[in-house]
Amino acid sequence: MDLKFERRAILFDIGEIAALPARTILRISDVFVSHTHMDHFCGFDHLLRVCLGREAGVSLYGPANFIAQLEHKLGAYTWNLVGNYQAEMVITAHEWAGEEHMRRARFSSRTRFERENLSDARAPRGLLLETPLFRVRTVPLEHHDITSLAFSFEESVHINVWKNRLEDLQLPTGPWLADLKRQARAGAPDETPIRIRWRARGGSHDRTMTLGELRRSVLEFVPGQRVCYVTDVADNARNRIAVTEFARGADLLFIEAVFLHGDRELAARKGHLTARAAGSMARAAGVGSAVPFHFSSRYLGRDAELQREFADAWRAVQDGVPQ
Ligand SMILES: [Zn+2]
Repeated sequence: MDLKFERRAILFDIGEIAALPARTILRISDVFVSHTHMDHFCGFDHLLRVCLGREAGVSLYGPANFIAQLEHKLGAYTWNLVGNYQAEMVITAHEWAGEEHMRRARFSSRTRFERENLSDARAPRGLLLETPLFRVRTVPLEHHDITSLAFSFEESVHINVWKNRLEDLQLPTGPWLADLKRQARAGAPDETPIRIRWRARGGSHDRTMTLGELRRSVLEFVPGQRVCYVTDVADNARNRIAVTEFARGADLLFIEAVFLHGDRELAARKGHLTARAAGSMARAAGVGSAVPFHFSSRYLGRDAELQREFADAWRAVQDGVPQ
């Protein structure tokens, strides 16, 4: 999730991330890791390397044993020179401990990334992170004989900007809109000044308007959107119920569709979903739209088959045809 004007991005799982531009990686503030199979966690080293020495902290969230695993990753490098960096880099790790709470630890470049335990935090109803803009929740699911965490990103309130009205007022787009939205979302008074500075042909411009004026003229408030991310889950009754309830009514669902129905025995052995199972979960949850992903490499070049199987299962009940 790239919240561009907030200069903030969030990752769900951190597998191969080398294709992401460094400027995007530098915006990553929070990483939610479903489980620590390599393909979901191996990108951590890349993130660390890009962010090291810059004034950026990052928070990570993961399942049981996550803090120890992060500690081992950090312990695998030699940090004798890291104290020379001007900027302190702090990694805050959160580990889902069930019973609605999280264990926490901190690793700072100032202390060569040695583990410092922090007090536990509460996570009522799976709430991992809450900010004025959004919250992230989790639910534990079964993946073979381990837990895989699903995540839900919930926007507080969605504020649209009418671009044409900006143009009418001869105002530019840009980072100032994030400040405007933040003030509007926080319920700041109408007379709050909003400063707009920009460069255009003919030099630099500087204008101040009140929040009230801008709220009336360029903003539109709509209910926030919800995006769910579900991966590495077995097709069993408990998971079906948990996924359906967790993703119910989401605007967008990303869900794994690793195998074709024809290979369902393999899917069962590995604790993964088939495209058909994923499609029927999306359908049962009544999501607005759904994106299947995490296709097995055995189907290289056959994405269309997985897509079709997923779409058929998803659409079946939408059209009133039982599966
Ligand atoms: Zn896995």
